Amino acid sequence: MKSNITDQLQHIQQCIQAAQKQSLYTHDVTLLAVSKAHPAAAIKELYQANQRDFGENYVKEFTEKATQLADLDITWHYIGALQSNKTQAIAQHASWIHSIDRFKIAQRLSQQRPEHLPDLNICVQINFDHEPQKAGIAPEAAAELMTRLQTLPRLKLRGIMCIPKPEKNKESSLEKFGKIQQAFVQLCQQFPELDTLSMGMSHDLEEAIIQGSTMVRVGRALFGERPAKSHSSPL
Ligand SMILES: *Cc1c(COP(=O)(O)O)cnc(C)c1O
Repeated sequence: MKSNITDQLQHIQQCIQAAQKQSLYTHDVTLLAVSKAHPAAAIKELYQANQRDFGENYVKEFTEKATQLADLDITWHYIGALQSNKTQAIAQHASWIHSIDRFKIAQRLSQQRPEHLPDLNICVQINFDHEPQKAGIAPEAAAELMTRLQTLPRLKLRGIMCIPKPEKNKESSLEKFGKIQQAFVQLCQQFPELDTLSMGMSHDLEEAIIQGSTMVRVGRALFGERPAKSHSSPL
């Protein structure tokens, strides 16, 4: 019998396809399964259903799972807060980081990325709503940071990530994502190597895809509600 998570995966894949049909954009959309607070067994189950991209946002939990599931061909994305004393584990285990917002952290990751691994893919997190409590660089400062990031070896600049404020309805959500997409296009003119617009989560993936998202980060809609944990993020 198929489990609930596998059913949910199919359902989300169908939502993604339906949103792509409504979109003017024709690129592929990657589903990033955000497995934070869920056990390695749940990851294995989705892996058996051919899901390959998984996202985590606590360094300790991420390192434990990546070590435990090292025999699986998983592409790990680190999407959480970055502290300079914890970059080593991420440089060793992740293929992607979505949450770069400081040069210094990127510099450490560049130095710590093991030689035998491919370049670490990075996205700059942009705080489009200028919310003081949230991570991310101000939109007007993104290009300057990217220019500096380009100089770092063993990192590959791929795009931007954002967590916009939830909007009150679908129209304003579409409008918000449309503005972010325009900002992304502008950055692409300056940095032609960019190919990743990481936006859209469980509650707004449809609107994000319609407006050109290339990667949606989905937790709750796949795995169900996260069990309460003392270190849970406010998200
Ligand atoms: C937890 C998290 C998600 C997934 O959120 P859901 O609402 O569970 O889909 C996406 N992005 C980031 C950065 C997260 O921390």
